[in-house]
Amino acid sequence: MYRSRAYRYANEQVVLVLTLLLVLAVIIFTSTVTFCLSGVFIIAMFVLSALLIRSHHQALMRSAFRVDRARSPELADLVTQCGLKLQPGPVDVFVVNQKQLNAYTFGISSPKVLALYQPLLKVMNARELSFIIGHEMGHVALGHTWLNTILGGMAGIPVSFGAAVLLYTAFRWWNRMCEYSADRAGLLACGDLNVAVSALVKLVKPEIRDQRDFERALALVDAEDDSAANRLAEAFQSHPLVIRRINALRDYARTPEYQALQAGMNRNLGGRSQASPPPTGVIHLKSESAAPQERPPDLPPEERWPWLKRQ
Ligand SMILES: [Zn+2]
Repeated sequence: MYRSRAYRYANEQVVLVLTLLLVLAVIIFTSTVTFCLSGVFIIAMFVLSALLIRSHHQALMRSAFRVDRARSPELADLVTQCGLKLQPGPVDVFVVNQKQLNAYTFGISSPKVLALYQPLLKVMNARELSFIIGHEMGHVALGHTWLNTILGGMAGIPVSFGAAVLLYTAFRWWNRMCEYSADRAGLLACGDLNVAVSALVKLVKPEIRDQRDFERALALVDAEDDSAANRLAEAFQSHPLVIRRINALRDYARTPEYQALQAGMNRNLGGRSQASPPPTGVIHLKSESAAPQERPPDLPPEERWPWLKRQ
């Protein structure tokens, strides 16, 4: 049987090779351009975030006052003690006149800004506040404050919907890991697991007046992770479920690493007593009336929160 392919047009294979080379070149070129554009986009988002942060900072300053010894000596003491323990670097602390129960840090350059929303001062006692301040200083010390700005810019890269969901979810996942780290800083700052738990519970259930209120609130918080919907929703949130944060702190508080870090940080205080503000007292600003507040009973911690002993 006679069989030949000699009729192939002379340029066919040459053009095939050229075409393949061209496809390869286009792939390399477009991916390089995409990569460079992503880089440009990240830088643009970074600049935009920086500008937004600056204008937010300026807006905040209009409704805020800086924590200092003249206006709020007890709060200034707490800030100093948390700073001595955690050594976060330069941080300016402001009390913001807003209604929410919130605290956060921002800033790319030094000093970072730590904003405490005023209702925190009414809801939390002094030691619980040191957990909150310590938590925020932890974000500063661990670099979350500036990383958040950069990664937040990256999470805004224009990509397909699927990739955007993936980026957003990954970013939130990292956010939640940062919260666990910052909670540890809060625990190191206040030095007492019961205080840390109490502060976390009050963040979501602020109307706690006595032990019974606390236990009711804790039971509600404890039930959060029983629902599959809550567990799924957590994947898209910046903060873990409170019960998970409490359990993570409880596990951490048992470790020798925690004990060693706590001992080291306590030494930073030198002769200063950590409990110079009344441990269960409520912080007052000079401008507020110092009306007596209802105090939780001063029971030993294991009697106050027997739930904590549960395994
Ligand atoms: Zn946080």
